[in-house]
Amino acid sequence: MPLKTSEPLLQSLYEKVEWAGKLLNVPEWIVEDELKLFKCHELTVGKLRVEMDDGPPERFAATVVLHCQPYYHDKPYKGGIRLSHTVTPSFLRVLAFEMTFKCGVVDLEFGGGKSGIRLKKPVNQYSPKETTRIMEAFSEVFIKEHKIISPRYYVPATDMGTTPENMDTIHGKFWEEARNVSTGGAVGTAVTGRTVENGGIPGREEATALGGLIVLDRLREIANMPKLRNHPTVIVQGLGQVGGNFVRLANLRGYKVIGVSNISGAVFNPGGIDFDELPKLPNGPIDPNGVLDNVTGEQCTSEEILLKPCDILVPAAMENVITQANAKKIKCKVLLELANHPTSQAADNELSKKIYVIPDIFANAGGVSASFWEWSLSLGHPRHTIQTPETLEEVRSNLTAQMQAATESVLSYAKKHETDLRGAAWLKATDRISSKLVKKHRGLWAPK
Ligand code: NAD
Repeated sequence: MPLKTSEPLLQSLYEKVEWAGKLLNVPEWIVEDELKLFKCHELTVGKLRVEMDDGPPERFAATVVLHCQPYYHDKPYKGGIRLSHTVTPSFLRVLAFEMTFKCGVVDLEFGGGKSGIRLKKPVNQYSPKETTRIMEAFSEVFIKEHKIISPRYYVPATDMGTTPENMDTIHGKFWEEARNVSTGGAVGTAVTGRTVENGGIPGREEATALGGLIVLDRLREIANMPKLRNHPTVIVQGLGQVGGNFVRLANLRGYKVIGVSNISGAVFNPGGIDFDELPKLPNGPIDPNGVLDNVTGEQCTSEEILLKPCDILVPAAMENVITQANAKKIKCKVLLELANHPTSQAADNELSKKIYVIPDIFANAGGVSASFWEWSLSLGHPRHTIQTPETLEEVRSNLTAQMQAATESVLSYAKKHETDLRGAAWLKATDRISSKLVKKHRGLWAPK
């Protein structure tokens, strides 16, 4: 009997893996016992006690979930840390599961993980000092007390609500601990997505967005996708690390951004959004949560912007924004999923019949690719055994090669199995991961 779960999102992922496993003739014990079962760490602590700038200290719950490790134990689990009032252990399980497969799509030797801290209110209502103290409390528990975050076990990175500066905080805490305790000679970084000044890789911040654009451009060249005008129109939901960088890079590559939204609102302008009018942080990049009132165009809500006509719709903020309720009203030709799980299963069933969907585990894998290089560099891998780029230009060119190769490979699965890109991405990942698991366990756990 196939394993089932009462969590609907996770169940929909189980079904994808069962489907892929059958098509690829993957042994049933690999699908049931290795791919579907969470055999590793899941830890929730409810006791992060943090001093607030004003008022009494607050307590926060934090969770780390690790899904599956298809490789040998010198490879860690990977997956970002969320800082949001929407964090739940059940959704982190979904994200950790998808992370295993995302790494499989782009051939990275990482297991899948995810972590999150559940805030009491939206992240933009906390000061940077408060979020730094939250990160310190998180590090205290998961580095010092439980020893989960480390270069060879779980290596988190930025995700919704977390910044490179937050990663610097965790890095500092790891090394404070490693210096004080005998760690058996810890080497490397326990976190990626750090600031460049603190050992981060140049281009990590833009890598998820750039990876998505590389995939989109390559598909436009070689796939049978809807014909788009010379300067395709784009609407982007979210202006953070992913969405903000996507707007900037898409603009540079000749796409016409006609709508943007963030937590504060949305603006639509069929004549094109004026990049200079977008709110900026003091050091230059787009302010993720800045007010959009002064941007020329029609002000609307972040739900309404998804329904405006455009060639390419890019959800780059959060999960489940495209649902059965709004799927019928979406008017784009291409959906480029840069957020994790932006489309519900029911909406996907509806949309995949009428528009071209480039799925999350494939479209947004550029960030974890750059994270892999940052982690590899920190371990001092010599260049002849692993290609570790160090400059922005090297990162961009490695990313181009990696994402283009993944695009070609996903397309070949789509062709061979006559399926859409989402199906093809899950097939490719299941194929790679299951073969690695068979090799790792050498059939040891197979039923007699
Ligand atoms: P971020 O915190 O930097 O930015 C989030 C953006 O979403 C902000 O602009 C925020 O204002 C906006 N937002 C929040 N609530 C909104 C709402 N209701 N309507 C419209 N906008 C809203 O986060 P990020 O790192 O850019 O991540 C965005 C998504 O991409 C998440 O789903 C994340 O899991 C996924 N992702 C991130 C990375 C990465 O490298 N950071 C990699 C892969 C996938």
